[in-house]
Amino acid sequence: MARYRESVCRLCRREGMKLFLKGERCYSDKCAFERRGYPPGQHGQGRIKFSDYGIQLREKQKVKRIYGVSERQFRNYFEWADRQRGITGTNLLVLLERRLDNTVYRLGFTTSRQEARQLVSHGHFLVNGRKVNIPSYLVKPGDVIEVKEKSKGMDRIKEALEGVARRGIPSWLELEKDKFRGIVRGWPNREELTTPPIQEQLIVELYSK
Ligand code: SF4
Repeated sequence: MARYRESVCRLCRREGMKLFLKGERCYSDKCAFERRGYPPGQHGQGRIKFSDYGIQLREKQKVKRIYGVSERQFRNYFEWADRQRGITGTNLLVLLERRLDNTVYRLGFTTSRQEARQLVSHGHFLVNGRKVNIPSYLVKPGDVIEVKEKSKGMDRIKEALEGVARRGIPSWLELEKDKFRGIVRGWPNREELTTPPIQEQLIVELYSK
């Protein structure tokens, strides 16, 4: 996957909203979007008018950036979601939410998905007692995600857990903070995916052209 190497804060400014890509900094007054809430670049403060296609494209880019997946991975998720029963857009978001890196982030073991992706890749988490180092691994109800015994002393994880109450945990997950463990209680709930707001129907329209 081609890696994005510039400041991720530019992505928030490009999409015109806070995408919460940088952990605790996103909740502080150091947030770049709070300071300069206009698109980056020379013409960032000029008027930008998007076509329908442009609006759909921006929505797709936004969701891709929130979950940190490549174009190819995103397209694969969409095709999978389209083959499933139900509403394609909702299916797409549920698949993205079920990723192990997202689940680790949602449980509060890290302050961002990027950090979660790194810690999962480095083998700091177990799923149902077995090491899983694949960020795209999809969790399902009943799965137990826990920090590996040797990794429980990591400051990054302990500090992230301290701020978990402020960030909140969705109802489909349950955290046992003192045991460094989380349990998947159900499927992700579309109604809870409100920050940042997502209009998944625009992505369906984009890919249906
Ligand atoms: Fe940067 Fe986070 Fe603010 Fe986005 S929300 S601009 S990633 S600090």
